[in-house]
This record gives sequence, C-alpha cells and structure tokens, in this order.
Amino acid sequence: MGPPGAGKGTQAVGLAERIGGAHVSTGDIFRANVSEQTELGRTAQRYMDAGEYVPDEVTNAMVRDRLAQDDALKGFVLDGYPRTVDQVETLDGILGELDGEQEAGLDAVVALVVDPEELIARLLKRAETSGRADDTEEVIRHRQEVYTAETAPLLQVYGERGLLREIDGVGSVDEVAARIAAALDL
Ligand code: AMP
Repeated sequence: MGPPGAGKGTQAVGLAERIGGAHVSTGDIFRANVSEQTELGRTAQRYMDAGEYVPDEVTNAMVRDRLAQDDALKGFVLDGYPRTVDQVETLDGILGELDGEQEAGLDAVVALVVDPEELIARLLKRAETSGRADDTEEVIRHRQEVYTAETAPLLQVYGERGLLREIDGVGSVDEVAARIAAALDL
C-alpha cells in the first residue's frame, strides 16, 4: 500500500520476483484493458481519467478471477488492491475460499510512507514523460484526496490485525527494497 507516487508499483514488481510469486496490479490490469478497448477497459477509463476509484464490484470481480489463475497459486503480491473497506472484506472472502497448497490469508501488508508534498513533486515529474491521462496536476491532487479518504483507513484495519509493516519510502529503489525485505524477514 501507499499513496499515489510512493513507488509501490516498482517495489511490488521487485518483491514478487523475490518471493517467486505473481505480481497482481489492479492498475496494470485496468490499463491493459483500456489499451485493448475491452468493455472492462471502457468502464474503468472514465474513473481512472478522473482520478476516481473504479467501482468495488468491478474491481473485486476482476481480482477474484486473477487470483484463481495458476500462477497465483505459489503466492502473490497485490499492488494497489485492496483500496477500500469493501475490497478488504471481499479479499478476506476470496482468500478464505482458496484451497489447495496455499495458506489462506495475507502474510503482511507493506505500506510505503512518503511526505505528501514529495509525492506531488514526484508525480508531476512522472507526468512529463508518462503520457498517462491521470497525470495532470488537478487529477494528481484529487487522487491523493481519494487515497486519504478511502484507503488510508485500511492502515488501521491491517494494523489491528498485526499485519502492517510501515516502510520509509524515501530513498533509492534498492534502499527501499532492502527495507521491505528486512521487514518481511526475506
Ligand atoms: P494505480 O496504477 O494503482 O495507481 O491505479 C490507477 C487507477 O486505476 C486508479 O487511480 C484507479 O482509478 C484504478 N484502480 C486501481 N486499483 C484500484 C482499486 N483497487 N480500486 C479501485 N480503483 C482502482
């Protein structure tokens, strides 16, 4: 977890490689559907362009399908999911239903902590090169607000479950990756 621009995508890819599990990024799946012009992509795009969350029922159904695929059986890193209390409850249900070799339940929730002004600066810099429609200053600020309102409360939920590992997200990619690995005893 982490607010937009905290570097969670980069770290999630590296962590998935390290544990030999699948990297499941809801943002990546939405973007792939947008570029393939699927119905899911058309639905998601309106929300993404506005910096809003895609509705829970759409996102939850997509994650349920994704986690049922073979490569997720060995484990996975969820990147950008769950983001709402409703998604937490759905994920609990999905993990409870999974059987077979894998243990049900999350091992840990990694949250990257970065100062909000630093994040806005990072995102504006990324906007110069990414061409992402959700990288305008207005949308960037709105996405931070949505994160604070909808997703920041999840930190408390996972903190109470004893799963939360808060990591200083300021530093090089390798420095932050080393902090995550240490916090997870990898
Ligand atoms: P990301 O690349 O993780 O920042 O996601 C890009 C955009 O996809 C977000 O701003 C949302 O519009 C949408 N999105 C990604 N993950 C979720 C989620 N778990 N719930 C709702 N919308 C999501």
